[in-house]
Amino acid sequence: MKSNFLDKVVVITGGGGVLCSTMANALAAEGAKVAILDLRAENAENVANQITQQGGQAIGVACNVLNLESLQAAHQVVLEKLGPCDILINGAGGNHPKGTTSKPFFELADLESSTEGLKTFFDLDPEGIKFVFELNFIGSLLPTQVFAKDMITRPGSSIINISSMNAFKPLTKIPAYSGAKAAISNFTQWLAVHFAKTGIRVNALAPGFFLTDQNRTLLTNTDGSLTARGNTILEHTPMGRFGEPEDLTGTLLWLCGDGSKFVTGVVIPIDGGFSAFSGV
Ligand code: NAD
Repeated sequence: MKSNFLDKVVVITGGGGVLCSTMANALAAEGAKVAILDLRAENAENVANQITQQGGQAIGVACNVLNLESLQAAHQVVLEKLGPCDILINGAGGNHPKGTTSKPFFELADLESSTEGLKTFFDLDPEGIKFVFELNFIGSLLPTQVFAKDMITRPGSSIINISSMNAFKPLTKIPAYSGAKAAISNFTQWLAVHFAKTGIRVNALAPGFFLTDQNRTLLTNTDGSLTARGNTILEHTPMGRFGEPEDLTGTLLWLCGDGSKFVTGVVIPIDGGFSAFSGV
């Protein structure tokens, strides 16, 4: 059967990262031409090289999703080397320690405490909060403004945003990241409605817990054993394991392909049952 993705141009922001490089590989294996955009140019190049060495078509492009000029320059490179964009994956995102409290619950004693490293709600740095909101929300909005214009006249176009478990219910300690991903889920629905008459579909993946560089220190100790938080997560994941990046690709291919052509505005949890489980 002919692939849905043969010669489709896919732009993946954050494509040099753990989850999105796996998505890039999966789409390239289906015959797509993939542009890997990342702040870390070397990582983008490495992922593109890996794909081309396996016979796929890919380019790495240095790009900052928070900078319109940088996005426009990347757009020119994509147009020249691959053509207009058919599928945009807004993958760049993440948390920041300055938007994170050190404890899940505030206790009275914390008011007077001089414990080193204690960061309560009252110590949160607005700059850290802004960083996280900008990276996740503005960092999805700006690339969409730049690349979606290509898609308006191209049948079968799709935008995929990356939400998270914390969008459904906030996770302890990470108010900025939770709020920013909730905004991504909301934006996915808004944009799906806004673009519905153009034929561009807009959907999101909501990955559960995947052990990656961003959360490794939150979930595992230096000896590889689980932290208390890592254990709590697995206890609340009915399937009893962390996700593997490859767990995202089946849903991704379905959401950007013809099989889901009447699906728009959904946020799909890929979480081993975490969001369905009440804890008892
Ligand atoms: P990652 O850190 O491996 O990848 C993120 C990539 O984004 C990095 O390569 C980084 O260089 C790039 N990036 C950061 N700022 C950028 C900018 N301003 N412009 C361009 N690129 C930039 O993280 P990951 O775990 O693969 O996460 C990918 C996406 O999935 C993120 O949106 C993340 O929030 C989301 N997510 C991850 C998990 C998880 O468990 N790892 C769970 C839910 C959602």
